[in-house]
Amino acid sequence: MADIIRLLPDHVANQIAAGEVVQRPASVVKELLENAIDAKATEIKLIVKEAGKTLIHVIDNGFGMSETDARLSFERHATSKIQAAEDLFNLHTKGFRGEALASIAAIAHVELQTKKEATELGTRIKIEGSKLVAQEVIATPTGTSIAVKNLFYNIPARRNFLKSDAVELRHIIDEFQRVALAHSNIKLVLYHNGNELFNLPSSNERQRIVNILGGKTNEKLVPIEEDTDIVKISGFVGKPEFAKKSRNEQFFFVNNRFIKSPYLHHAITAAFEGLLKEKMQPSYFIYLEVNPETIDINIHPTKTEIKFDDEHSLYAMLRATVKHSLGQFNIAPVLDFDRDANLDTPYDYKNKQAAVPNIQVDRSFNPFADEKKITGNTAAPRYTNYKKEATEGWESLYVGLESKSNANAFSSVNIEFESEEMTSSLFTNEEPRETLTYQLHRKYLVSSIKSGIVIIDQHRAHQRVLYEQLLRNITVSEAVSQQLLFPVKFTFSISEIALLKEVKESLENIGFMFSDITDDTIELSGIPSNISESELQIIIEQMLNDFQGEIPDTGFSQTDVLVKSLAKSMAIRTGKKLEIEEQQALVNNLFACKEPTISPFNRTIFITLSVDDLDKKFI
Ligand code: ADP
Ligand code: MG
Repeated sequence: MADIIRLLPDHVANQIAAGEVVQRPASVVKELLENAIDAKATEIKLIVKEAGKTLIHVIDNGFGMSETDARLSFERHATSKIQAAEDLFNLHTKGFRGEALASIAAIAHVELQTKKEATELGTRIKIEGSKLVAQEVIATPTGTSIAVKNLFYNIPARRNFLKSDAVELRHIIDEFQRVALAHSNIKLVLYHNGNELFNLPSSNERQRIVNILGGKTNEKLVPIEEDTDIVKISGFVGKPEFAKKSRNEQFFFVNNRFIKSPYLHHAITAAFEGLLKEKMQPSYFIYLEVNPETIDINIHPTKTEIKFDDEHSLYAMLRATVKHSLGQFNIAPVLDFDRDANLDTPYDYKNKQAAVPNIQVDRSFNPFADEKKITGNTAAPRYTNYKKEATEGWESLYVGLESKSNANAFSSVNIEFESEEMTSSLFTNEEPRETLTYQLHRKYLVSSIKSGIVIIDQHRAHQRVLYEQLLRNITVSEAVSQQLLFPVKFTFSISEIALLKEVKESLENIGFMFSDITDDTIELSGIPSNISESELQIIIEQMLNDFQGEIPDTGFSQTDVLVKSLAKSMAIRTGKKLEIEEQQALVNNLFACKEPTISPFNRTIFITLSVDDLDKKFI
């Protein structure tokens, strides 16, 4: 009997491959857009007719192809992107199979025009059902234009299988959006039947999301950010109150490639646990950057699923990061205290060295409460999430000076340093009963420490205390408002009101309560408990001034600017006399801060003089 096995002719093999690569017009859109991106285009135009059934045309300003490459690009397994099997494990491009153009050309009429920067003339190639119909030299701009007409013209079964234009267009828009979200720096335009559907300028990721999903989206987004050895996570999650029934606002990108990952999706849903009503879906736009060697993209022909080396760590990190952001932006009820404390530092001082480490202080101590109030502390609710710590903590660092019965004696400049009792006690190991502070020139607080003395700038110290306190209020959502008996009204310019509206949410997090906002007035029914009504006008004006008409892009820096501004205007001034209790409270609170050494504006808060330093001056 004769042998019956035959090699399939190329065009048949291509058609079979096409069955896998090209399921519908949207698949062609995806392949062509990705090729344009791989060609380093900065502008890409997608023109579609009848939901891609009659025309899919992609024009890019990328690096184009030489005449030979243009012809080769339609061969199966012809690719410029990998050369050896090892390259598969270090992919920096979207494509690598060299199948797309060959597949598309097997089942459609394709016209390619392309030119490289270095050559004056370009190439035009026409292919129909894998057959070269025309090839010529033409004048054309640098870049590539590929028009795919009459898709599935030679596979009627496939063509008939296509859904309505509305459905197929939806698929095309989905692909377009995925590419657009993954590459916000690339200008992208989409026309359908002559109508412009999207015109997306090059922008940052947040702006791109807003341009695609509409202006209202901006307020829904909570930024997320984490940088570790195995992954860099960035992007946004939607606030829980904006969750939707559908899952169409859920995007993962790995090295700028859209992927689907039920496993990582689960990590996000876990982070939202307890925050969403049943069946509601969180929105997310998450960008993961990993070393290409640690992922395997090769496991699925249409490449939306990938395999990670260290999926478990990724899961944990993603969940923690999202949870943390939700907490930081006042959305989750409490912070996740199990995580690394460094990750909780809500501002960028975590790498700086603190000069006085391991200081523990009674955080519930209120600097400006009088003696009686200290027990029934007004500020206490704000700290309920924090463990109460022993007051002796930082004081044990301080020298064992004997307490005078009248502590106020130290407010006077005539302190008797030479007194026998004082000098001798400097060298005893007795536990201190009280740390002594004393105010110098209504500007500095001088306090004793084990190694000598510390001199603290009172204004800067208080700025730091307020800054951290306000940030913490926002983070753990425990801002304390004082309800005003009569709401107060302020008049501002239209642009100032616009500015206030933009930061309204952050202000509310701090404890401001707006009862009315018109075009030129605001009415407040509540204010943060540590602000007095009389300071209000100045504080708000100062804040508007600090924004200088410019609101930082991300919610986090917005909050940061706001909190700095408030800390600046609320902090006690140089020249204010402080009672001994106030001095001690301020010192206590300063050293309870995460970053007691520098003010929110990066100024030195205190200096120390050691006994050695002093000794040197007494020779
Ligand atoms: P792959 O993208 O997997 O390499 P394709 O079939 O999509 O395979 O493309 C084949 C080759 O054609 C690519 O490797 C690339 O060299 C070239 N090519 C395709 N599209 C473009 C384009 N828009 N600009 C420049 N070169 C392109
Ligand atoms: Mg490709």
